[in-house]
Amino acid sequence: MTVITSDLLRRLPKAELHCHLDGSLRPETMLELARDLKVKMPRDSAEALRDYMRVDDARNLEEYLERFSITLSVMQQAEPMERIAYELAEDCAKEGVRYLEVRYAPILNVRAGLTLEQAVEAPLRGLARAARDYGIVSRVLVCAIRNMPANTSLELAWLAVDFKGDGVVGFDLAGGEAGNPASVHAQAFAHCEANGLPCTCHAGEGAGAGSVAEAMHVCHAHRIGHGTRLIEDPALLAEAKATGVAIECCITSNVQTRAIASVDQHPLRRYFDAGLQVSINTDNRLMSGTDLVTEYGLAAKHLGFTFDELAQLARQGFTNAFLPPVERDALVATIDAEIASLRQGLR
Ligand SMILES: [Zn+2]
Repeated sequence: MTVITSDLLRRLPKAELHCHLDGSLRPETMLELARDLKVKMPRDSAEALRDYMRVDDARNLEEYLERFSITLSVMQQAEPMERIAYELAEDCAKEGVRYLEVRYAPILNVRAGLTLEQAVEAPLRGLARAARDYGIVSRVLVCAIRNMPANTSLELAWLAVDFKGDGVVGFDLAGGEAGNPASVHAQAFAHCEANGLPCTCHAGEGAGAGSVAEAMHVCHAHRIGHGTRLIEDPALLAEAKATGVAIECCITSNVQTRAIASVDQHPLRRYFDAGLQVSINTDNRLMSGTDLVTEYGLAAKHLGFTFDELAQLARQGFTNAFLPPVERDALVATIDAEIASLRQGLR
């Protein structure tokens, strides 16, 4: 059996489908931006800031989300947003990520006068530059926030649809899940659906399987962010399998938000064995102190995934991309060839 090393996991071509822009900054960059923008950071060395931003003491999802006000304080201008997106794609490329879908809520980036459009255009410029420099294909998902009004979500859905074909490939609902049902934002999802823009929805992370049911049945989400507690409802799990709803798993993040007690309790293994579409993702590289190689390593070490199984998981990341089908199929063909030659080299 193939010995799984970090180097091998780095060489495995991977897709990153669930990654928040405002949760994936480099601490060094945060400090530089804070200096330029005259914003205060809670720590003044990169190492101390890295430790501070890593959330290991949250009691729930809401507490985990509090750290985002710090990253957002340096994400209110176009240039910083462009730089942050570029650096994220660069970091991903170095981990063997070939395809990145980065998500964020532009409504949180307009406090200093950017328009919503500018708050989308700036990261797209950064991603385009990273594509030229590193060959990584990156697209944006626009997030709405559960605890914001339905009208705001609708406005964000309009924005996402406006950028369809110009770098935005999907729509998402994020934020505090408990007590903030997705059904409130149904109109936003309906607008995306009517305009052929695929949707994902954070669900089953800070609330139970009923929340996943709502994302599937009311919002018609094609993918579920986390879906950790889908495991509690076997009938819904069977339905997700039958309809091809894909689960975006984020192992470390789920331990931090107490969605699971420990890594070895993560339902990823059970989802994979049940034949569900699943992918491995980082969620927030900064708050989780992780990268995609590390997350694949956790799946190998704690959930018993073999290299062949991890290659299958990686492939599902590409087949469930929100790219238009023609682009997606071309990417999958490239990845299949690459995985085959990687396997060849292991023999
Ligand atoms: Zn997330």
